[in-house]
Amino acid sequence: MQAVCWNGKQDIRVERVPDPTILAGRDAIIKVTRTAICGSDLHLYNGLIPTMQSGDILGHEFMGEIVELGADVKNLRIGQRVVIPFTICCGGCFYCNKELWSFCDNSNPNGALTEKLYGFAGAGLYGYTHLMGGFAGGQAEYVRVPFADTCAFAVESDLEDEEVLFLSDIFPTGYMAAEHCNIQPGDVVAVWGCGPVGLFAIRSAYLLGAERVIAIDGIADRLEMAESFGGAETIDYMKEDVLQQLSLRTGGRGPDACIDAVGMEAHGMGFEGIYDRTKQALMLETDRPNVLRQAIQACRKGGTLSIPGVYGGVVDKIPMGSAFAKGLTFKMGQTHTPRYMFPLLQMIEQGKIFPSDIISHRLPLREAAEGYRLFNEKHECRKVVLLPGD
Ligand code: NAD
Ligand code: ZN
Repeated sequence: MQAVCWNGKQDIRVERVPDPTILAGRDAIIKVTRTAICGSDLHLYNGLIPTMQSGDILGHEFMGEIVELGADVKNLRIGQRVVIPFTICCGGCFYCNKELWSFCDNSNPNGALTEKLYGFAGAGLYGYTHLMGGFAGGQAEYVRVPFADTCAFAVESDLEDEEVLFLSDIFPTGYMAAEHCNIQPGDVVAVWGCGPVGLFAIRSAYLLGAERVIAIDGIADRLEMAESFGGAETIDYMKEDVLQQLSLRTGGRGPDACIDAVGMEAHGMGFEGIYDRTKQALMLETDRPNVLRQAIQACRKGGTLSIPGVYGGVVDKIPMGSAFAKGLTFKMGQTHTPRYMFPLLQMIEQGKIFPSDIISHRLPLREAAEGYRLFNEKHECRKVVLLPGD
């Protein structure tokens, strides 16, 4: 089959690889119908997360049709349409039982490696480093889905694939980010980053009752989407002073909640930007936490900072004194995706949101390298969907 393979920093190749096979009783093999490139894939593309190996198959946002099932899967059938959550979960451990799916204790076979780095291992993830299990990803014609009886989410409705594809990650991720804000009537929520995750966080904040959402980015067409798709007011950080604007627009108090939907590859301005890029290049800091610093500074006293943006290692000069003095609540982490798939599917069915509106590019799988290049450059490119078999 054809698959999108990582071969080093900004080196993506579509290669012929062996088809996946059933390895365990709870496996399924999926024929992929749609797959997307995520902002998280860009961290791999830009060589920022260790333990990728040449030839690793990328992709954790995908859906398709079941073509093969392991002997122990009783709740699914061949031919069924399924969306796969990016977090692989056993369904039986302490964390899965608490619906904290992304902390699954049993799905990362390389957990011991992760424990050395983080103290504990989280769930295995598709196409996302050997630290996260070394699983082949779904930017391919076929993919193996472990624990399919728990993970595969069957979608029977007649919605188009592209309306349900983002249940695999970015819609639940944006929704969980907003849910973490514990939104109360009258709340103002600020969202840094108007990429796919930021856009879903904006819409979710309104769905959860926010009165106003203020979105921040430096790219014109993404800010326009924040207004048209999200209904947010916007701040262009290339032209305006973000802290000053947020203060002005909230009567000097600051937003009630701040969402960092940017993460480790934040673009920094002025001296701070140079500082982080230099430290990152010298490997004295792994991530660039410009947005994290700004969000801590901006948030009102007693407010909440929700962080869906991925951080991978160590960061520097976090204004912890400010966070402490203001009594901020921090919420973050990989999304507990399966928890959200059914309720968010219902919202799509009810016409409360049209996820496919954020797609800017549809490319055949064989043009994945171009898709990565475009999405990384971000010029008029908001979300790339890849079509296997075209
Ligand atoms: P993306 O790269 O398309 O979007 C990031 C946006 O942030 C861009 O529009 C960029 O212009 C903007 N940005 C950069 N610097 C900024 C700054 N200083 N201020 C304001 N905006 C700034 O990525 P995405 O797909 O939207 O994903 C966003 C983040 O969410 C990534 O870090 C990704 O890894 C993470 N993510 C996390 C989870 C999870 O489970 N928690 C799941 C999916 C994605
Ligand atoms: Zn993703």
